[in-house]
Amino acid sequence: ILTSFVTPINADENIEGYVFVLHDITEQQELENMRKEFVANVSHELRTPLTTIKSYTETLLNADVDKAFIDKFLGIIDKEVDRMVRLVKDLLLLSRMDSNGKLKLESVNLNKFVEDIIQNLKIEMEKKNQILSLSLKDAKKNVNIDKDKMEQVIINIVANAIKYTPEGGCIRVYTDYDEEAAYIIVQDNGIGIPEKDLSRIFERFYRVDKGRSRELGGTGLGLSIAKEIVEAHKGEINIESEIDKGTVVKIILKYN
Ligand code: ADP
Repeated sequence: ILTSFVTPINADENIEGYVFVLHDITEQQELENMRKEFVANVSHELRTPLTTIKSYTETLLNADVDKAFIDKFLGIIDKEVDRMVRLVKDLLLLSRMDSNGKLKLESVNLNKFVEDIIQNLKIEMEKKNQILSLSLKDAKKNVNIDKDKMEQVIINIVANAIKYTPEGGCIRVYTDYDEEAAYIIVQDNGIGIPEKDLSRIFERFYRVDKGRSRELGGTGLGLSIAKEIVEAHKGEINIESEIDKGTVVKIILKYN
């Protein structure tokens, strides 16, 4: 990491040379920093709903509130508990990936696999009047995947497309194949991602808009989990996006 840069100039005002001062952060230190940041993020993500729950239960216990208020407060508490359950589920998934990275690979017809998953997500799209277009090319070969883990990837990506696309928007899911790989592509015409955020979008807990993500039930872990799983399959995942135009996520799975 470059920490300072000096340009000494001699009496004739000519540049004599450059001095770079380099500061070396070892890999271990970097890992330690990442671990600390992760723990801080997890604590924060858990503390926020806990604080909300605590303040609502206190009010319910202490104040003489009528039935309408009780229902409203219980609804909020219920929503916050759901958020924590989702977060803990995602954290457990990450922890299992870390400690037991082994995949249960099996040969799978990707079209059928994708179609079944999308079938289950259709209800969420219908709730937002979103139009689904599913197009499955003729498969050249089966792919070797861990079905449970790859299902999680597709769910995370399509759930994002649903979350970040307004009512009445379009979501296109398609498969494609060439000699080397199979492709799953999820395209939406939603809010898009600003260019400055694109390079960091796969980091754990990175969100473009924390408030919006939370409001929509996001944990900030969906894309990082997807990336870890795809990379464990020696595949690739990439994202292209334009603000207010939409987003395209491409998953590439090589046959070998
Ligand atoms: P989250 O739980 O917040 O959705 P993710 O890791 O799944 O977390 O995604 C990280 C961030 O990337 C989101 O908070 C959102 O800002 C952005 N994002 C992901 N997918 C899309 C999409 N299809 N359209 C717009 N923004 C997206």
